[in-house]
Amino acid sequence: MSWIITIDGPTASGKGTVAHWVADKLGFHVLDSGALYRLTALAALEEGVAADDVPSLTDLAANLQVQFADYRVWLNGVEVSDAIRAEQVGNLASAIAVHAPLRAALVARQRAFAQPPGLVADGRDMGTVIFPEADLKVFLTASVEERARRRYNQLINKGISANVDALLLDLQQRDERDRTRAVAPLVPAPGAVLLDTSAMSAEDAAEFILAQFAQ
Ligand code: C5P
Repeated sequence: MSWIITIDGPTASGKGTVAHWVADKLGFHVLDSGALYRLTALAALEEGVAADDVPSLTDLAANLQVQFADYRVWLNGVEVSDAIRAEQVGNLASAIAVHAPLRAALVARQRAFAQPPGLVADGRDMGTVIFPEADLKVFLTASVEERARRRYNQLINKGISANVDALLLDLQQRDERDRTRAVAPLVPAPGAVLLDTSAMSAEDAAEFILAQFAQ
């Protein structure tokens, strides 16, 4: 028996932190599905593949040589944990994630993460497309202002200069693209529990999810 918890939501809603917290408490595996889109985007940048060259992008996605371990990720044997978090990579990831064949090329790879004793999968379409049979589905949100503030603090803490207004605009554009795309749009899965974390710590959000799972 393998359990599945999905956590979907918009950019910078805290899904990743909360997913790791919940997984650590339960001893479950974690799937950061956004990382797969970011890795494809990074590979495209490195190989000079254009954002509208769908066959080449799909080929890159299908053949990604990736390893995940301890919150770190490697692409073709090179650690890219920080590189995939760059804003340029995130923006390209969002732009190429609209292509249906590319998304299809990543489906089996994502489902393979469902191993005993269980999986916490975070992304945009975990509950709607990848794991519609999940035991618990959560849709995590926070106001766009709060998400921009969190992203700003993350960048400043890493010594990267940032502008909160530019981040806000960027988040709004990315949310709009994720919500309105034709394939796998960002919407709560049927039966998902909605959780607004605007005034909530990641730890409290994780505790809420654990309590839901225990029911
Ligand atoms: O979650 P993260 O910001 O790392 O994801 C990067 C981009 O990848 C998102 O903006 C979204 O467009 C895309 N994505 C997706 N489906 C997922 C996860 C991420 O389309 N399951």
